[in-house]
Amino acid sequence: MAFVTRFAPSPTGPLHLGHAYSAMLAHDMARAAGGQFLLRIEDIDRQRSKTAWERQLIDDLNWLGVSWDGEPMRQSDRQPAYDQALDRLWQSGYLYPCTCSRKDVEAALSAPQEGAELPVGPDGLIYPGTCRNRMQEERTFPASHPRPRDATLRLEVSLISPKVFQHGIDGPSGGCHACASYRETGIGPDGTSGLIEFTLADIESQVGDFVVARRDMGTSYHLSVVVDDAAQGITHVVRGADLTEATRIHVVLQRLLGLPTPTYHHHRLIRDDHGKRLAKRDDARALAKYRAEGATPQDIRRMVGL
Ligand code: GLU
Repeated sequence: MAFVTRFAPSPTGPLHLGHAYSAMLAHDMARAAGGQFLLRIEDIDRQRSKTAWERQLIDDLNWLGVSWDGEPMRQSDRQPAYDQALDRLWQSGYLYPCTCSRKDVEAALSAPQEGAELPVGPDGLIYPGTCRNRMQEERTFPASHPRPRDATLRLEVSLISPKVFQHGIDGPSGGCHACASYRETGIGPDGTSGLIEFTLADIESQVGDFVVARRDMGTSYHLSVVVDDAAQGITHVVRGADLTEATRIHVVLQRLLGLPTPTYHHHRLIRDDHGKRLAKRDDARALAKYRAEGATPQDIRRMVGL
C-alpha cells in the first residue's frame, strides 16, 4: 500500500521538541514503509509567517536528519487552488459571507445564558448563525452572486445532504448508516484508534458553521490543509493529537470537494515538565536552544521518546 505523508509546519516561530517529534515520527514511518515524506510550509497567515522562521525550520530539520522528497510546497503559492475549491463550494450554495467579529459571536452566544461557559469546538466558538439568519430573513441568496473575495465565508452545515456526507471510506454504509468516517491509527476523539464515525448532527452541534475563508487570508487552515493534502497525494496524515477534533471538519470538506480521505495518525503531544503542551512562543523548548547547548539529534530523539 502506498504511504505518502508530510510535515506541515507554520513558520510563525521556532520549532520546539513537539515539532521535532512530529517530523521525526512521520519521517520514520514513511521510511519504514518505503514511502514518501513531503514538506509543506503552511504560511497562509501572512502577518505571522516570517522567512527567517522558515529558514530556521529547514535548518533544524536538516540538522535532525529529517530529509524530504522533492521540493517543499508553500501555501503562499497555492491561492489559485484554494480559490477553485472555494468557488466550487460557493457555487454549490454552501457558503455565506459573515461579518461577525469574535466579540459579536461572544455577545450573541452569551445573551440567552449570561455567565454560562461559551460553547467551543475545533473551529473556535460555535457560531450561533447570526449572518445566516439575517440572510434568510432578507431572502438574499448569495450563491447567485459572484463569490466575494474580501469577506469571511462560513459553510452552512445544515445544507449538506446526507448522501454526500455519508459516502465514507468503507462505502455508503460502514457500521453506522448516517455517518461519515475515517480511519485513525493513533489517538482518535475518545483516545482510541480504528474507524471513527460521526454524524451531521454531531457537526452541527459540536462544530457549527465553520470558517472556510478568512477576510484577511482568502482561505483558512481547514480549507488549505484539505486541498493541499489531496494535491500532494497524502495517504497518511501524521500530526499531533491537538488536531484530532479538527479532522472531522477536514473529512466534511473532503466529501464536499470530492477528495479522498487519508488515514490519520494523531500522535501524543510532547509536554513540558509541568505537563503543559509546548507552544511556539515557548522559546525555552526551541530546538535551536538545545542545539546551541550542544545536544545531538540522538539526544533529541531520546528526549521525545523515539
Ligand atoms: N500547520 C499546522 C501546525 O503547524 C499543522 C497542520 C497539520 O499538520 O495538519 O500546527
